[in-house]
This record gives sequence, C-alpha cells and structure tokens, in this order.
Amino acid sequence: MYFDAHNHLASPSLAPHLPAILAAYAAAGITHAVVNGTEEFDWPTVAALTSAYTGSDSVSASASRLPPEACRLLSSYGLHPWDVGNRSPAWLETLRAHLTADPHAAVGEIGLDRWMLDRARPDDPRLAGLRRAPLEEQLEVFKPQLALAVTLDRPATIHCIDAFGLLLETLRSVPLPPRGFLLHAYSGSFELVAPFAALGAYFSFNAAYLASRHTRLRELYQKIPLDRLLVETDAPAMLPPPAHAPFSFSAAPALNHPANLAASYAALATLRSLPLPDLTAIIAANSHRLFLKG
Ligand SMILES: [Zn+2]
Repeated sequence: MYFDAHNHLASPSLAPHLPAILAAYAAAGITHAVVNGTEEFDWPTVAALTSAYTGSDSVSASASRLPPEACRLLSSYGLHPWDVGNRSPAWLETLRAHLTADPHAAVGEIGLDRWMLDRARPDDPRLAGLRRAPLEEQLEVFKPQLALAVTLDRPATIHCIDAFGLLLETLRSVPLPPRGFLLHAYSGSFELVAPFAALGAYFSFNAAYLASRHTRLRELYQKIPLDRLLVETDAPAMLPPPAHAPFSFSAAPALNHPANLAASYAALATLRSLPLPDLTAIIAANSHRLFLKG
C-alpha cells in the first residue's frame, strides 16, 4: 500500500533493528522501499539486503523467496556528494558492476551539495572524516552517474541542497534518464518545480518538513503537481516531529524509524486536503511509474 521512495535501510545504525523494521513494515502496510547506497562500502550491504527481498513485480510470489505480504526492497546505488571526496579510483567501475548485476536497481543517491561547503559546521558529526569535495569535483562525479542511468535505462535519485540553479543548468546540458528522476526531499523554490518537472523530475515529500519552522516547504508540497509527488523517509535520517513519528527505537531515539512512512502519507493527505486512500493510490501509481516500469 505505502511506497518509500527513498531510505537508507542498509545503514549500519539500522542493522540491529532490521527484524523489528520488517515486522513494522508489515503491520504498517508498507509494501515497497527504495534502499539507497551512498558510498562504495555500503553498496554490498544494499545488494545483500535487497537480494533477499527482491524488487521485481514481474517475479511471481511463488518464484521469489518472499511471503506475498512482505515489503519489496528495491536497490539503488550511487556515490553521494558527501562521499565524493573519499572515493577510490575504482568507484565508477564498481558502481557499474553493481548496476549491471541487478537489472532492477536504480542510480542514487547522487547529487550536488553546496550546504556542505558553505553552511555546515566544521564539526558536524554527519560529515566527520569526510573530505568536502568542491562543486566542480562533485559535478565530475555526478555527471558520469547520470550518464550510467541513461545508458542502462534506470531512474536516478538526486540529492540537492543549496545548489538548485547549478543542478537545473547541469540537467539541461546532458542526456537524462528517459523514465525520469527523483529530487528527494526537494527543498528548492516553487518557481523551479515546473522547469525540473519538464525535464522528468518527481519530488518526494519528507515528514521532517512538518516541523513548525518549515512553513515554506509545507506550502511548496501543497502545490507540487500531484502526478509528480512521491513520499519518502530518508530513514534513519530526517527524523520527523514526534507527532508524526509513531515508531521509534528505544535504544536510539535520534534515528528515524523507516515505518514512520505511513504517518507521512497521512500528514501529506491532510496537507493536500485529499482522502488518504486517494492520495495513496496516486503516490503508488507515480512510484511504480518511476521505479518499477519495465
Ligand atoms: Zn538519502
């Protein structure tokens, strides 16, 4: 019923909680999740996790290893802009190997991030140990990954913070994935929604934007065209306000539980003044069009 367009279920911080997460998925009606890798060392974990919960809608329930009610985990492989500075010389070949090994895998999380360079604190724990690659270097890594998505006909998931003008300019200058791409947790202006959508963009709503300070983003997600709207958690990142986070880990309260997705759908239905079943059907159709077509 519910489709998580973007999470990080292969994150080491979630590993001890996986059985509880999968049980909560079943209880909350979460049927699909796109599991994003962000750097070379987590790609094998994404592969191991998703191969046990294959994402192919063409595989019959009896042929897969899954009970029919289980959540399908779809793999996605990419080098995140925060990890660009620490990549190995073999990163692109390794990425290509993961993508060709799984014909249903998407490309992502890839992108451009100026926040890391201009606004992030020097001691931000999320960036500890990472060399912060300048934008020119981020572009050198972003473009070949986008090209792989085009060559292999895969959707791409793009992270962008504080670099939307540069992103639009870049996307206008290169071939783009024919099935489209996701701007995950989009936080740019409303004025750029139409130009991005014209290039094939989808936009995923994150319940972290329900925090009171994010008035502009709530208004933005009231106006994004319904046929381009997806829903995501980015779990274990982007913890929503407590009222919209019914699931939590008692041993790790700062982590966003992936099953909070169901509450995000309910909040978005309220924001859009739509009955929840109607919104859910629209998001399911959009999500399948982007991630499961063909
Ligand atoms: Zn992410």
